Amino acid sequence: MAQDSLWETPAAKTLRAEPGFELDQLDRNSTPGFTGNKADGERLLEERGAVLSDLQELLYANGRSGDSRSILLVLQGMDTAGKGGMVRHVIGHVDPLGVQHAAFGVPTEEEKQHHYLWRIKKALPRGGYLGVFDRSHYEDVLVVRVHDLVPEDVWSARYDEINQFEKELVDAGTTIVKVAMFVSLDEQKKRLEERLDRPDKYWKYNPGDVTERGLWPAYQQAYQAMLDKTSTEHAPWYVVPCDRKWYSRIAVTELLIDALEKLDLDWPPANFDIEAEKARLAQS
Ligand code: AMP
Ligand code: MG
Repeated sequence: MAQDSLWETPAAKTLRAEPGFELDQLDRNSTPGFTGNKADGERLLEERGAVLSDLQELLYANGRSGDSRSILLVLQGMDTAGKGGMVRHVIGHVDPLGVQHAAFGVPTEEEKQHHYLWRIKKALPRGGYLGVFDRSHYEDVLVVRVHDLVPEDVWSARYDEINQFEKELVDAGTTIVKVAMFVSLDEQKKRLEERLDRPDKYWKYNPGDVTERGLWPAYQQAYQAMLDKTSTEHAPWYVVPCDRKWYSRIAVTELLIDALEKLDLDWPPANFDIEAEKARLAQS
């Protein structure tokens, strides 16, 4: 495996949420497993982005030949954690044709008529695709829990239900890469201030973000419960410190490369007679 030596331990090993993980101990400005600096990280993002791109093309090619396997990247994090930037700067390396991207906001009237997994199931990647969720079904045990949008007995049953749902997905050939992105309270303030200072960022600002910020401890508790209850063997969480964007981006690039390499893909064989086609082409 072509793991750059600047990683002293692979991202998939270092960042995996193991039982007993304590979120309040996480240094959100840290760069776990990585020994390089920002310049190293930025260079590496380009190098490894190219590797990711090649692997994604292999996945797509296999999908076109009937392989039903897929990858689903789940990005979950508070406002300003960098979910959108992750899509632009990491997923931006691969051919958009093979990407199925979905963002989940406040449920629409139509979505509210259905089970919370309804909109999720509609957005799942088909065979050969790299699915990307900007927020996900985990909102239904995060914002919903923090704001008591449904009674406790309803949201508390969802952890098991989500584990079961993901197990079925994995058994059907989807590798789920769940990334919990954590920014510090201070860094979030800086990023929100920037959104208020820059006309090109006003569109990202939502007055509600400051309300959610006021509920920080309740959110941290909800995130801790999510990690405790849904970091499973079949679909573990990876905890990524996000105060340094360059770090979070190389970390997620490595997680995706690792997931794709584990599929052990090869180029699909020709489904035509190569020699006959060469002869036909020569005569044409
Ligand atoms: P953004 O990602 O900035 O576009 O914001 C989307 C907003 O939708 C966030 O405040 C989420 O917490 C909220 N949201 C996403 N899913 C749900 C849900 N199932 N119930 C309530 N709010 C949600
Ligand atoms: Mg937002």
